[in-house]
Amino acid sequence: MNQDVLVEVKDFKKYFTINKYMKLRSLDSLNFKIKKGQTFSLVGETGCGKSTCGRTLVNALPPSEGAVFYDGKDISHMDEYEKQCLRKKVKIIFQNPCAALNPQLTVHKLIAEQVDTHFPARSYQAQQNRISFILEQIDLDSHYRNELIYELPDNQLYLVAIALALAASPELIVCDEPISASNDQFQTKIISLLKELQNDLGLTYLFISSRLSMVKHVSDQIGIMHLGTLVELTNNQLLSSKKMHPYTKSLMSESTVNANNKRAVKGETVRLSKGCSYVSQCLHAGLICQKKLPEMIEIEANHFVACHLYD
Ligand code: SF4
Repeated sequence: MNQDVLVEVKDFKKYFTINKYMKLRSLDSLNFKIKKGQTFSLVGETGCGKSTCGRTLVNALPPSEGAVFYDGKDISHMDEYEKQCLRKKVKIIFQNPCAALNPQLTVHKLIAEQVDTHFPARSYQAQQNRISFILEQIDLDSHYRNELIYELPDNQLYLVAIALALAASPELIVCDEPISASNDQFQTKIISLLKELQNDLGLTYLFISSRLSMVKHVSDQIGIMHLGTLVELTNNQLLSSKKMHPYTKSLMSESTVNANNKRAVKGETVRLSKGCSYVSQCLHAGLICQKKLPEMIEIEANHFVACHLYD
């Protein structure tokens, strides 16, 4: 395996069993790599399976078929010690990051708890230095540091979630909708903070987003997902080229695609034909599109598209 690659997702499929006759397909034959120190974004409408993919990377969901390799090691075949190390190296920031936190604790106490959990052998002074370092990194207003979590404004809560992820000194952070619920000014602040942290700490990111416009300019590689499959995979520059998957074009033309959008994908598992998942919405659909699933092909260097327009 290439030394630069931190994560490799190979022929990855995920099904959920509904009953003995039905399986729900959530992810189908995903293949992509995330290089160390880079940002990979998975973009698609709500329900397309991108969050399921993110949860798999933190080993919360085992793949049904295929494999996910972290630093060359198949995460499904790790022993308990290796899994414990992975939980420290890979952190996820959820869309509603503080819902599971104890509201009675102060920001400082919460971060202290995380630092204690991941570095129990450190001296008291070393723990305090670590907490101060993390708080400086996220640039949280100092007067919030001793506030209870439930007293914090939503914007500051997201900063705390980043701090809690940093407490473990992770290598990879999965950011599930990192900027969906905030105003534009704060979204910009979060994105530049995450990029600064990446430069300073050598972090690798997987961004999961329904807003292509927001993550496009800060991503090294972008995977466009539709109904559990990757339909396009390339870098930021090539995603602006004329050769694009029709679904990517539709995402590009929408400034916002979010949970309230009527086009949000419901029943992510339903594929009515053997053909392209986008066939019922595509303006370019031909007969072959209904019969044959398009394969991902490299249409130019580092630009992969699954569409019969480019066969
Ligand atoms: S394969 Fe056919 S239906 Fe699917 S996106 Fe391409 S042209 Fe449209």
